[in-house]
Amino acid sequence: MLSRVAVRTVATRRFPGPAFNDLRDVAILRLDELELCCQGVHALMVVGGEVVDRRILARCPDLMIVANVGVGHDAIDVPACDERGVVVTNTPGVLDAATADLTFALLLACVRRVVEGDRLVRSREWKDRWGDANLATEVSGATLGIVGLGRIGRAVAQRAHGFSMRVLYHSRRRLSEATERELGVSWRTLDDLLVQADVVSLHAPLTSETENLVGRRELSFLRDGACLINTARAGIVDEPALVRELTSGRLRAGLDVFAQEPGVPEVLLALDNVVLSPHLGSATVSARHAMTRLAVENILAVGAGRPPLTPVSEAGTH
Ligand code: NAP
Repeated sequence: MLSRVAVRTVATRRFPGPAFNDLRDVAILRLDELELCCQGVHALMVVGGEVVDRRILARCPDLMIVANVGVGHDAIDVPACDERGVVVTNTPGVLDAATADLTFALLLACVRRVVEGDRLVRSREWKDRWGDANLATEVSGATLGIVGLGRIGRAVAQRAHGFSMRVLYHSRRRLSEATERELGVSWRTLDDLLVQADVVSLHAPLTSETENLVGRRELSFLRDGACLINTARAGIVDEPALVRELTSGRLRAGLDVFAQEPGVPEVLLALDNVVLSPHLGSATVSARHAMTRLAVENILAVGAGRPPLTPVSEAGTH
């Protein structure tokens, strides 16, 4: 049972799960509804994509913590929070399985053309059971390239082995040989990974370093018919360049994230070689409940003067 402390929270929605009730004093408001001065607000509880910048921080002079319900905290100005001694926390670990499962759902749907098949059946245009038009490539034995082999990337690698895939990875730091052997993965430069993979799946955070990491040049390295899965952040890929490759029909993609969510580039809606999902990575009941619990525990810890469980900022480490 969590201890109750008098911490005043603004949450951008009623977050799912029983832990939300452990916040005694909570107002549900969108960030753009925050008044010019929100004196007495100690905690903001937000989701990925909700921008917490200097303007919002200036409105909340008593803020102690920004609790992001999610892993990606790219919309939060962490250095500005650090400057003010505002702790930033996220909810790593509790959504790895959910996000890896969704990644695999997109991978299988994309490679095996499941959504196209579904459309064909519903349109009553399905005539020939042996038609070449529905043929796909094999998942088993294909090469998967994982960009960012962290918590979710590793969970994806684990699933890929169940499908007898060869797994390459790229991240800034190469793992030890023993860990690579244990995980059944081999490191490649990004360029080599793109050239060698049949499917590339992105699992790096969006940072100044990874923004447009996969640009026009990198996309051109992908082999014809290769599939790009993105359940990380849209900003890691040059979206207009990807749209061009998809429109030409050279590549396939499974996309859970978009630059202007909930907006999606109009042209993608008409393409059969793209599977789209509405940012569903962590969207299971148990993952979402666990995310709420971790965010609430972070808020209550900071409110009680204890260190947060999962800080992402300098201020959060002491
Ligand atoms: P994580 O454990 O921190 O793993 C991220 C990995 O990316 C690390 O292994 C890191 O390794 C690598 N990386 C960082 N910078 C890189 C670079 N410049 N080039 C290549 N690799 C780089 O994070 P996670 O929990 O797996 O989450 C990953 C991301 O998924 C989150 O940041 C979030 O944006 C996204 N996400 C999306 C959903 C969804 O609903 N679609 C759900 C959860 C998470 P090195 O430091 O060695 O490079």
